[in-house]
Amino acid sequence: MATMEELKLRVRELENELIKCKQKQCATEQLHRPKIEKMSAEVVDSNPYSRLMALKRMGIVDNYESIRTFTVAVVGVGGVGSVTAEMLTRCGIGKLLLFDYDKVELANMNRLFFQPHQAGLSKVEAAEHTLRNINPDVSFETHNYNITTLDNFNHFMERLSHGGLEDDKPVDLVLSCVDNFEARMAINTACNELGQTWMESGVSENAVSGHIQLINPGETACFACAPPLVVAANIDEKTLKREGVCAASLPTTMGVVAGILVQNVLKYLLKFGRVSYYLGYNAMQDFFPSMAMKPNPQCNDRHCRRQQEVYKAQEAERPKNEVIQVEEEEVLHEDNEWGIELVSEEANEETQAAAAAVADLPEGITVAYTIPMANKGDGEMVEETEQSLEDLMAQMRKL
Ligand SMILES: [Zn+2]
Repeated sequence: MATMEELKLRVRELENELIKCKQKQCATEQLHRPKIEKMSAEVVDSNPYSRLMALKRMGIVDNYESIRTFTVAVVGVGGVGSVTAEMLTRCGIGKLLLFDYDKVELANMNRLFFQPHQAGLSKVEAAEHTLRNINPDVSFETHNYNITTLDNFNHFMERLSHGGLEDDKPVDLVLSCVDNFEARMAINTACNELGQTWMESGVSENAVSGHIQLINPGETACFACAPPLVVAANIDEKTLKREGVCAASLPTTMGVVAGILVQNVLKYLLKFGRVSYYLGYNAMQDFFPSMAMKPNPQCNDRHCRRQQEVYKAQEAERPKNEVIQVEEEEVLHEDNEWGIELVSEEANEETQAAAAAVADLPEGITVAYTIPMANKGDGEMVEETEQSLEDLMAQMRKL
């Protein structure tokens, strides 16, 4: 039992701690810069936008300040999503919507952005706090929920349609930075229905490859049109996330993927350079394959098929000299119209071991994550017919 004196001493110690904390908090608050009404190109040390606005002077971007008019939704604020959100915040994006249901854990500390003292906080809450400190000019809207449940999915759709910066407008772009098949499918479904352009990103479970992909419903292949790029048959996602078993991750690969993702976002929003439809990253060989894929006219998603009709009609009305065609850099395979097959006859053993049923993709493109698959595991390959693609998709939908 502590004596009265000891307790008094302890109270004094705690009071001192409290004062120190309060002082620290004041000091941090004073560091917060006030909001900046108008982006300026003035070259002074106190201007956080001088180096971004210099892109205009260098002739790269015509109107950098328009970045403030855009709203981007980031779904998944993990290894890729948090860094993506930070880059967009530092670039001065108008508004960010953040969706994630996870909490910060010490097991996340091998990646960038989150810090140990944030362990236990929700990722969106912790991220918003950090990002506001970095740039108070950005508006934030955070949703701490799983988008795949029915109620949340409806709310998610509603926010994509009305969460824009001004006048209840839709967001300008959705970024998928999630780590599982179900959430990707949910984003795909929502964006197909809304006709919302989005970008998908992924990092492989062995941490040494990744990709980004631009999906403009009706114009390019959606996530349901082209499963081979996302199918790695042998590992069951749910098994993988079992107690004591986890995917590998590297801050480097995640940083690279976040970097190429946000680069593509900036090019798309600010209209400079060539926007990539698909860009892969193979860390083992430092190889960056790129390509574009047309949508599948038999896609299982009816909204995808509807958007394809809409796109065709728009293209037909466009004056011929303005027609921009999706580039096809390489014909992947002749078996089906969108140039992809599920299984290569000649897939070498090494590739098969790494990623199971690997499609006949250009060198360097490997499947980026797994989907829940039953009845695989004996290395048996899916039949090489168009029908098998449908079967596979149907199978995936059931799971
Ligand atoms: Zn589709």
